[in-house]
Amino acid sequence: MNSPVKIPDMSHLWMPFTANRQFKEAPRLLVAAKGMYYTSHDGRQILDGTSGLWCVNAGHGRSEIVEAISRQAAELDYAPSFQIGHPNAFLAASAIAQIMPAGMDRIFFTNSGSESVDTALKIALAYHRARGEGQRTRLIGRERGYHGVGFGGISVGGIGPNRKAFSGALIPGVDHLPHTHDLSKNANSHGQPEWGAHLADDLERIVALHDASTIAAVIVEPMAGSTGVLIPPKGYLERLRAITEKYGILLIFDEVISGFGRLGAATASELFGVTPDLITLAKGVSNASVPAGAVAVKHNIHDTIVGASAKGIEFFHGYTYSGHPLATAAILATLDIYKREKLFARAASLSPAFDTAAHKLEGGRHVIDVRNLGLVAGIELAPRPGAPGARAAEAFTKCFDQGLMVRYTGDTLAVSPPLIIDESQISQVFETIAAVLKTID
Ligand code: PMP
Repeated sequence: MNSPVKIPDMSHLWMPFTANRQFKEAPRLLVAAKGMYYTSHDGRQILDGTSGLWCVNAGHGRSEIVEAISRQAAELDYAPSFQIGHPNAFLAASAIAQIMPAGMDRIFFTNSGSESVDTALKIALAYHRARGEGQRTRLIGRERGYHGVGFGGISVGGIGPNRKAFSGALIPGVDHLPHTHDLSKNANSHGQPEWGAHLADDLERIVALHDASTIAAVIVEPMAGSTGVLIPPKGYLERLRAITEKYGILLIFDEVISGFGRLGAATASELFGVTPDLITLAKGVSNASVPAGAVAVKHNIHDTIVGASAKGIEFFHGYTYSGHPLATAAILATLDIYKREKLFARAASLSPAFDTAAHKLEGGRHVIDVRNLGLVAGIELAPRPGAPGARAAEAFTKCFDQGLMVRYTGDTLAVSPPLIIDESQISQVFETIAAVLKTID
């Protein structure tokens, strides 16, 4: 136990995606973090079962990253990102390009996943325009997709509550593929479910409806994280790739969660052997130490946009903090850790133990599905009659009280620990969840 830290005045902060009134009645504050553990304000050690928000893949408080950031802050705190560069931005872009699928080696920097998504959608439109196909503006997302909270992201995203309040302002010309989760067909699958590849064929229906010549891009998370860990059925991504290629539609993989080792490879694209046209990144790119994001782009797409215009600015888009010195220093130090400690391979080698531990929950109290791949698992609970989501919310709170951080979305608990986790901590995660589920109605 560490000594408790006083809770500050909480009246001014409007917390994102939070039940503000409930939170303030029983706050959970974190005051320190190291390795696999957070320290809570009341002095307890909390095992991080979620890598923060799916982002601290190399574990907390990595001294190499801390030192790189502080050295950079002292040396060059900020450099304008338009028309002026600094070395680390170029070096960080090269380091990311090295671990992207072959040919996806042009990197555009952002500060978050939401910005990466909006950037990727704009690159897709700019690409078609540069090729003289400016009428290709339609975008296709997927039900239960999460692509951040920009207007582009919520428009292609498929989460009702995130869209409802803004429905009049969503970008026009967006369709959605069906999601691939069906408990009657693919419950309790280990890794990729057998059932569901055919759902990609719905893209043919959308193409028939609108004509391919109007469609710019399809965006999906190869593994949907935020809506409850939906693993792609075997063959599904391959079919999406084949159909998009057939019609000249760009394919965007949103790898904000699945990138940087979560599934046991640098990217889901690499793991599944399916190469999209653009990959959105954030979170693990900097181990969450400094806000950072990026879009990896096939070089021919970059070359088409950059080569198409007369000399001058080619792409009217960017952020004050694109390639920020602190972010790029953090990215370089982070990617170095991933490489040196072979953390993506570590995630792959731990995944059988993770699978075994997760599936011990199968058929347990309230559990109606366990699904997993690499170091991510979703544990779906039967909803409490008349109160969907309440059971998972209670499990989340009780886990936290028991010293374990998990996430919940709807009635699914999500587990996605840092890749430095060991086998005994993996057991601890799932045993704590099992014990907590026994205590709730
Ligand atoms: N895309 C995906 C797939 C995500 O999981 C997230 C965040 N969970 C985002 C985009 C948005 O990222 P950010 O919160 O950094 O804007």
